[in-house]
Amino acid sequence: MDFSVTTGPLLIDGHLDLAFNAGLGRELTLPLAALRRTDPVAGETATVTFSELRAAGLRVCFGTLFALPRTAQSPDGYTDHAGARQQALRQLEQYQRWEGGGHLRLLRTGEEVAAHLASEEAAPGVVLLMEGADPVRDVEDLAFWAAAGVRVIGPAWGRTRYAGGTEAPGPLTAAGRELVGAMADLGLALDASHLDDASFWDAAELHPRMIATHANSRALIAGNRHLTDDMARAIADKDGVIGLVYHSKFLQADWQDGDPRAPLSSLAAHAAHYAGLIGWNRVALGTDLDGGFGQEKCPAGVDAYRDVPASVDALPAELRAGVLGENWARWMTRYL
Ligand SMILES: [Zn+2]
Repeated sequence: MDFSVTTGPLLIDGHLDLAFNAGLGRELTLPLAALRRTDPVAGETATVTFSELRAAGLRVCFGTLFALPRTAQSPDGYTDHAGARQQALRQLEQYQRWEGGGHLRLLRTGEEVAAHLASEEAAPGVVLLMEGADPVRDVEDLAFWAAAGVRVIGPAWGRTRYAGGTEAPGPLTAAGRELVGAMADLGLALDASHLDDASFWDAAELHPRMIATHANSRALIAGNRHLTDDMARAIADKDGVIGLVYHSKFLQADWQDGDPRAPLSSLAAHAAHYAGLIGWNRVALGTDLDGGFGQEKCPAGVDAYRDVPASVDALPAELRAGVLGENWARWMTRYL
């Protein structure tokens, strides 16, 4: 299938938290300069608005339903599944309102993705991804979310009722094993991005369709947020794709808040490492550029979302199109 467009390289992003940002009070329908002037979020300069996505030429992304648990940093977060479900429902309604306003188009199947890519539609297509499965009440509730358009679920973020996650080690719980099995039965793909190792390998046994929408390589950055080489190979064995995350802390070892932003060569290093393991046709983007961090933490040269297409210029020219969009396009049209 030919996904080329006349206006620039095909751009598909494996991970944006659009509705979560709206929940923070960010008005994403404003031009970026106007959003920045009115941004209620302090200290994290916004880089994503709908006009930026269009300026970049973004055609499709995974857009999250992300419920934030209560922590010291998020006192308003959820404390039980009902609270998590409420957050996700509000975000679902936000995507539907945006679709009604012509800001995006929700896509549910590989056929819809293919048709969208072949169309002249300027608004980006969004495939719903649930990041952290706590909003799913139980396996009976999965059908509701599937009908609502959710096509991919990551069982963990931090720890959830279903799985050990980032900085929260542990296997799938009994409910998690049931959930992952039911996801496979319903044809909902699994996002391994935040799974702790123990949960990852449990899930790999239970589910044939794994991707990592936004995860860099643990060979270059320590910690269970990142994929080991064996994990990357397991995803490849299931014909999966891995999206590169644009957070300096996840690009450059020992990077800390306030340090000079990581160079784009560090992004290329993660891409090349994965490619050496599993091939360039499995390396893609999952920028997460609105995922709780701002320009201060983006790689140097990425000041706003429109800078994403040029951010892979350190890669050999013949590999850029695959990483920017064609690899996700192949996976989405085949498996959604
Ligand atoms: Zn995430």
